[in-house]
Amino acid sequence: MTLDTATGPDELLLRLRDFKSDYFPLHQQRFQDLVHQGQHPKTLFIGCSDSRLVPYLLTGAGPGELFIVRNVGAFVPPYDGSHGLHGTTAAIEFAVLNLKVERIILCGHSHCGAIRAAYDGVPEEAIALKAWLKLADEALLPVQSSPEAMRRTEQRAIVLQLERLMAYPMVRREVEAGRLTLHGWHYVIEDGEIHVFDVQSASFVPASLATNSGTGPYQPYVEHDGQVISIPEDAL
Ligand SMILES: [Zn+2]
Repeated sequence: MTLDTATGPDELLLRLRDFKSDYFPLHQQRFQDLVHQGQHPKTLFIGCSDSRLVPYLLTGAGPGELFIVRNVGAFVPPYDGSHGLHGTTAAIEFAVLNLKVERIILCGHSHCGAIRAAYDGVPEEAIALKAWLKLADEALLPVQSSPEAMRRTEQRAIVLQLERLMAYPMVRREVEAGRLTLHGWHYVIEDGEIHVFDVQSASFVPASLATNSGTGPYQPYVEHDGQVISIPEDAL
């Protein structure tokens, strides 16, 4: 049964009761340990809000393992040192400075509605969304009619966000100190495959073929070039 059920019992309420009666008893100790000892997640997961992207399934993670922030498109706002009310920026600062995470995963995906909307536009009423989608502007291609162009744009957008992450002073500092790694992932929904960004080749490699989960060295790429636009056309 899905949550879309329009008639019958309150499915959502039933699921809350099921969690308490079925799932929680199996993991009660783990949850209580996480309360007594606090959370110490090693990973910040920045993902698109898309309902088909399920971080816990992809990573096999359980309670206490992922600090997650999700938004439309898995975008990272530029670090501008302002006091703006920005949830994603606040989550990055909290994860790096307070939780001292050791890796940041930036996860986009195939058939991303945000990337599509960046090309096609949004209703006039969606003022914030329209401004938000500009965070993908630099990843857009002159031609976008083919599925291949969409996929390339999605991947370029992921690299673009990694670049922005490196502009956060606390992120750059930790990366340069070797205490933090950045991972760019592109999840292809229909294949069940994550393609991880390989910095050395500036390309996305299927996880089934990759030698690592996208762990840098990110720094050389940034220092050498720094512009997502300059990634070789044949790399993406
Ligand atoms: Zn998406």
